[in-house]
Amino acid sequence: MSRRDELLALAAATKGFMPTDEGRALYDIGRAQVRGGTWLEVGAWCGKSAVFLGAAAQERDCVLFSLDHHHGSLENQRGWEHFDEELVDPVDGRLNTLPHWQRTVAAARLEDVVMGLVGPSVVVAQHFDQPLDLLFIDGGHASEVAWADYRAWTPKVTTGGSLLIHDVFADPADGGRPPYEIYLAALASGEFRERAHHGSLRWLQRG
Ligand code: SAH
Ligand code: MG
Repeated sequence: MSRRDELLALAAATKGFMPTDEGRALYDIGRAQVRGGTWLEVGAWCGKSAVFLGAAAQERDCVLFSLDHHHGSLENQRGWEHFDEELVDPVDGRLNTLPHWQRTVAAARLEDVVMGLVGPSVVVAQHFDQPLDLLFIDGGHASEVAWADYRAWTPKVTTGGSLLIHDVFADPADGGRPPYEIYLAALASGEFRERAHHGSLRWLQRG
């Protein structure tokens, strides 16, 4: 099996919230990026999108920061729709996806390509000055969280850089609105134009 097929199969088999066809689109978008860039994803969970993007990053000599506090979003907590008992840390009873994320990245042999950033998105952003050639927003979908991610991270995208947003649903019957709202805001800012979309994944480019 080729390295690419190995990584795409591993990503597809990893727990997470990225349909395989959208993950494949993520990989293809990553392969279209300039070489040597710095990428960041907000929302790492167990490393599924990190492997799709990381596979492309490795081919393009790029580095992907994969950011998460690793305690899940509201909808991942006990009693909510996307709760998973297997991800609960028996020591403190909290959700902890960090060990799962680490195992995924290690199994993919992407530890020198995909770097974990563990903490609250906005706090990390306030201390992160590196311009981003690619930003993938897939963190919490509550309104304040999605807007905070948009405001904190989008200004760091370089001219010519890519902004990817996941779970963009124009019809509220298909999913929550905040990712759609920030997608509209990016277009309305006049800074970004749409390059492509695949399912709920939107690809915008600055400039
Ligand atoms: N990209 C992942 C899915 C991410 S799910 C995949 O491919 O499967 C959304 C993630 O955002 C959760 O893991 C949650 O812990 C994280 N998250 C939510 N709000 C956050 C915040 N304010 N700071 C950091 N991470 C956050
Ligand atoms: Mg998502």
